[in-house]
Amino acid sequence: MRARLVVGNWKMNGGLAANAALLDALAAGWAPGARARTLAVCVPFPYLAQARERLDGTAIAWGAQDLSEHAGGAYTGDVSAGMIAEFGCRYVIVGHSERRQLHGEADALVAAKARAALAGGLTPIVCVGETLAEREASLTGTVVGRQIDEVIESLGDAMTRTVVAYEPVWAIGTGRTATPEQAQEVHAFLRTRLEGARAGDVPLLYGGSVKAANAAALFAMPDVDGGLVGGASLNADEFLGIGLA
Ligand code: PEP
Repeated sequence: MRARLVVGNWKMNGGLAANAALLDALAAGWAPGARARTLAVCVPFPYLAQARERLDGTAIAWGAQDLSEHAGGAYTGDVSAGMIAEFGCRYVIVGHSERRQLHGEADALVAAKARAALAGGLTPIVCVGETLAEREASLTGTVVGRQIDEVIESLGDAMTRTVVAYEPVWAIGTGRTATPEQAQEVHAFLRTRLEGARAGDVPLLYGGSVKAANAAALFAMPDVDGGLVGGASLNADEFLGIGLA
């Protein structure tokens, strides 16, 4: 059976006091085994220690939002998989569209980061997704196919140890969610690609303006195994509502 999970991406938000309140509310509100779903939060690097301190011993996992493709050395400002793993992280997001767009991360680098994550004992959450212009030009399959194929080719059999998130760029932080049918169509496409790589059981998350109000309909789709949640993960009630959807 495929794992089901809901992962929060805090992006560059937070502060020690607000984080403490949010993490404690999540820990208090999430019963182990709730909905047979894993709940996790991916926090900015400086807050990894705080996430561990507040979540260790709870049913909630934590992780980071990016990592270096290198294991160590003269890479000023970068953070390695080993460093992230030392803070008890289970997950790390790679290839988020904000990294691709704002930092010019290309498919080969995203694949290298996914490899580095696995080598460091972390589960990479590999993000793929098309822009609005690409969707309108009927290029969704071409774009997400290219993005996922690069990772599949690079990881080989280790692809089975990843999580994939379909995040249409036009739906991230815009309040415009893909319909459940639009999400399912792309998830089915990705599932076929993964099955071709003998990685059909990889959890496929949907991300893009997921809220408590729309999560149940999205998660009811046969190939949607959970969500990657940005803005709504900063509100405990809303995020718990998504986890329980
Ligand atoms: C994200 O940052 O991965 C995301 C999906 O953001 P939002 O939920 O705010 O659209």
